[in-house]
Amino acid sequence: MRWILLGPPGSGKGTQAKRLADKYQVAHISTGDMLRAEVAAGTTLGRQAQAFMDRGDLVPDTLILEMIRQRLKELGPTPGFVLDGFPRTTQQADGLCKMLRGMSSELDRAILVDVSDDEILKRLLGRARLEGRTDDESGVVLHRLEVYRKQTAPLIAYYERLGLLTRVNGEQSIDGVFGELQSLAAA
Ligand code: AMP
Repeated sequence: MRWILLGPPGSGKGTQAKRLADKYQVAHISTGDMLRAEVAAGTTLGRQAQAFMDRGDLVPDTLILEMIRQRLKELGPTPGFVLDGFPRTTQQADGLCKMLRGMSSELDRAILVDVSDDEILKRLLGRARLEGRTDDESGVVLHRLEVYRKQTAPLIAYYERLGLLTRVNGEQSIDGVFGELQSLAAA
């Protein structure tokens, strides 16, 4: 399994990515989790990334691609993975494609966890209130959605052109979405 999970913040792709990685015994690669770990550890990368993350902006492509390159290297030849929150720009997608080609590997699928804007706003603003996540405070939430629309949503057409895109309905229950993903894994 070499999948990308695409979707707006709050689509539930992180939860699904973890379940998939667990069930199919592949690596769960979440650039958001990796960056938060770098920030917590106070590394140079963490210090470089923090301001972007606090604003809800994307961390520069070069830093992200270097982090992914190292992670893929650690996984060794012909790795299985679910990518969660990466790629987020066409430059990242191009970089990933080159890296995989260099390993004689390629993606199987890019899955869009599809959720309407109204539902996303409801979920994100609700989560911001419950968890007090600094990057989910209302203004930042709206900004992250805007960043998704402008910089990441073009990847939907990008992977559609490559014949790799599959949409799943992200407005079902967590088990409902996972059921659809399992069917795709079996297809
Ligand atoms: P996430 O947990 O995936 O929502 O990521 C949290 C934050 O980390 C994002 O708002 C970005 O600032 C940063 N980030 C995570 N993944 C990427 C990526 N692939 N490219 C650029 N920035 C990222």
